Amino acid sequence: MSTDRFEAHDYYLMDELLTEEQKLIREAARAWVKKEVSPIIEDCFETCKFPEHLLPGLGEIGAFGPYIPVEYGGAGLDQISYGLLMQELERCDSGLRSTASVQSSLVMYPIWKYGNEEQKNKYLPKLATGEWLGCFGLTEPDYGSNPGGMITNFKDMGDHYLLNGSKMWISNSPISQVAVVWAKDEAGRIHGLIVEKGMEGFTAPEMHGKHSLRASITGELIFDNVKVPKENLLPGRNGLGAPLSCLDSARYGIAWGAIGAAMDCYDSALRYSKERIQFSKPIGSFQLIQKKLAEMITEITKAQLLTHRLGTLRDEGRATTAQISMAKRNNVEMALNIAREARQVHGAMGITNEYSIMRHMANLESVITYEGTHDIHLLITGMDVTGISAFA
Ligand SMILES: Cc1cc2nc3c(=O)[nH]c(=O)nc-3n(C[C@H](O)[C@H](O)[C@H](O)COP(=O)(O)OP(=O)(O)OC[C@H]3O[C@@H](n4cnc5c(N)ncnc54)[C@H](O)[C@@H]3O)c2cc1C
Repeated sequence: MSTDRFEAHDYYLMDELLTEEQKLIREAARAWVKKEVSPIIEDCFETCKFPEHLLPGLGEIGAFGPYIPVEYGGAGLDQISYGLLMQELERCDSGLRSTASVQSSLVMYPIWKYGNEEQKNKYLPKLATGEWLGCFGLTEPDYGSNPGGMITNFKDMGDHYLLNGSKMWISNSPISQVAVVWAKDEAGRIHGLIVEKGMEGFTAPEMHGKHSLRASITGELIFDNVKVPKENLLPGRNGLGAPLSCLDSARYGIAWGAIGAAMDCYDSALRYSKERIQFSKPIGSFQLIQKKLAEMITEITKAQLLTHRLGTLRDEGRATTAQISMAKRNNVEMALNIAREARQVHGAMGITNEYSIMRHMANLESVITYEGTHDIHLLITGMDVTGISAFA
């Protein structure tokens, strides 16, 4: 990849809404990404390799469990700082942000919220530093948008639980030491179980052939009579609401992350429009190119305002699932549209790995599908405003 020339554009002076600490966290993450990730990310994407050596660095910038209390190894930060970190990671690559989102919101969050003290002390500090990587198993081959239908289950065998079933499309799974797995008990109630690498009957094969999120590793989780110790059950909450509450936290991070991808595409398109000469003029002097750029910065600014407000509501404990869902849907679609427009501004060069545009576009096709598809999020808003569920 050519040198990372990214410059942030702050059209509505959003920085004035940030604290000095929040700006420092963002700048440190941006500098780390430019130095450590940007030079290798195109190669990782092309060769479909997850850059495992970056895990300790992600831990150092606070990307693993940013809002988890310091006593458990987290960074103890507010929700806007968490969002800014996700923005900086996805500015480089959605796969990098996915790794951090899964670790923070889908593995550390349920252990912190629903785990007991022993579980928190055993797992959270190692996950916060990146010494251990975790994954979150909810989706099954036949149950994606409808996770409540899952068939993965466990039986109480007296001194342990016996876990059977399978999960697919699980980010980080082939290289994770820990999996938070959602499974039904004998009464059909969903619980979270912490499954560790090496337990007999547990495998996590890698899934191949992705044209998207290629710098993030994805796999299955297969449980064939796995004996899970009883102390590995998350005692604090059960029912579908437990995994869905984790998704709230992850979707909030995605809403910020998508802004990062959009900012990168816009910045690249703006620069290219000033440098590329056609008909003896920079292409940025043509009205149709200016229209694209004007619409891009308008949509980014609207998404920034939406997301900053959502962060404040989350810090106050007032953000609803439907509000988070709206931000995830809006911002990911916004980023995907901007990636497509930015690709056009770059002409043929836009399809090459000289620029990040095409990688962002391909990645965002996963982001618009995972953690609830775009259409499912439309239905969440629809249900919220009408009071009527159109799901089933
Ligand atoms: C790269 C990647 C990483 C992922 N990582 C994880 C992970 O770490 N952990 C995890 O548990 N899962 C993960 N997922 C899975 C992801 O969350 C699911 O793919 C997603 O929830 C959609 O499920 P599905 O693919 O089975 O699609 P389906 O549910 O089969 O949906 C197919 C289509 O039907 C539509 N549809 C479905 N139901 C309705 C309805 N009631 N009304 C209208 N339209 C409907 C959908 O919107 C979609 O357009 C990942 C997916 C990807 C691509």
